[in-house]
Amino acid sequence: MKPGGKKQKPAEIDFDIEEFKVILNSRSQKITAPRLEILRTLKSNHKPLTMSEIQSKTKNKKIDLATVYRTINLFAGLGIVYEIDFKDEFKRYELIYDRHHHHHIVCKICKRVDNVETCVLDELEKLLSKKGYTEITHSLEFFGVCEKCNKVYKVIKL
Ligand SMILES: [Zn+2]
Ligand SMILES: [Zn+2]
Ligand SMILES: [Zn+2]
Repeated sequence: MKPGGKKQKPAEIDFDIEEFKVILNSRSQKITAPRLEILRTLKSNHKPLTMSEIQSKTKNKKIDLATVYRTINLFAGLGIVYEIDFKDEFKRYELIYDRHHHHHIVCKICKRVDNVETCVLDELEKLLSKKGYTEITHSLEFFGVCEKCNKVYKVIKL
């Protein structure tokens, strides 16, 4: 996509790309096609992705795994992406800047990840702030066996 000199109709402006450019500019980073494409991939998937998932989901086939590694590590250092460690073999990454507070559940068998949108820890955080703590954050990841894997399991058990 070309940054147009011509005036575009509002419907044709890619707001995601404009937003990514602002993010990169604000951190004095060069705007490159692979960087924009990796940000777009993360944004459109709404789920934490591993390096190789990011690579396989990018539409630009010139982006190899080494580029993804380099870019994601850079973004992690700049606070653009957030690294989630489910204590399995792969780290996963998700965008920080449009991240509302949520948790994840990962399937112990197929490793699919779902977002858990409800958080019940507000009360606990209030309690801790009464104890004088500030800047309280928490991270909590869930593990289970997903619906699909449960079905496969049933078949095996029969
Ligand atoms: Zn998430
Ligand atoms: Zn599963
Ligand atoms: Zn929470």
